[in-house]
Amino acid sequence: MRRLAAGNWKMNGTAADLAEVAALTAAHPAPGCEMLLCPPATLIDRMARAAHGTALRIGGQDCHARATGAHTGDVSAPMLAEAGASYVILGHSERRADHGETDAQVCAKAEAAWASGLVAVVCVGETEAERDAGQALAVVGRQVEGSVPEGATAENIVIAYEPVWAIGTGRTPTLHEIAEVHRFLRAELVSRFGAAAKGIRLLYGGSVKPSNAAEIFATPEVNGALVGGASLKAADFGAIVAAL
Ligand code: PEP
Repeated sequence: MRRLAAGNWKMNGTAADLAEVAALTAAHPAPGCEMLLCPPATLIDRMARAAHGTALRIGGQDCHARATGAHTGDVSAPMLAEAGASYVILGHSERRADHGETDAQVCAKAEAAWASGLVAVVCVGETEAERDAGQALAVVGRQVEGSVPEGATAENIVIAYEPVWAIGTGRTPTLHEIAEVHRFLRAELVSRFGAAAKGIRLLYGGSVKPSNAAEIFATPEVNGALVGGASLKAADFGAIVAAL
């Protein structure tokens, strides 16, 4: 399986930050591993040009379910693809919280992504209250069921398990808790899509940094990471890529 380190710049980054890309493309993931950066939409085109011919892949942070239309402020999957993206993050917890995105909407966006040849990185994860109530597996099970369209394969989808309480907080689940959720997600995917779903990459996300990346990557059923804050600087993200 091609392990993947994916960086989500969120609403950070202007042209000056493209210097980080130059530094990052000097880093080489181990054979069979991939690195991906998802900058704000305004930087995709320039970042894709800067990364051309290197091992760095570029992605969007969201797309609309429709290709064109009266949707002020939105970006469509064909637009991302034309700008140089090959992946798109969908259903990030910040979009679910800030924009009220539902599983059904995320599912429709994933289908739109596929129609434009993009790999969908679908995010799921429980809140702290849900974990405390013993609901973590039920919540992520429901999200993955509702957000992942029929036809998911190892080539067109990546699932990111991101506990909401671990994002940007410096707190992470125990390795045992991460393994428990990832094993559960793998079983859900295999029961729905068959044995080929053993090849779908499962990323962990939430306060991944150079100091904890190696142990997280060594955890069963963890096939990479979705990284927020630590993806902004090439030195940090390069160290995470090196730990893949
Ligand atoms: C994220 O938002 O996807 C994320 C994992 O953020 P951080 O790494 O900063 O916790």
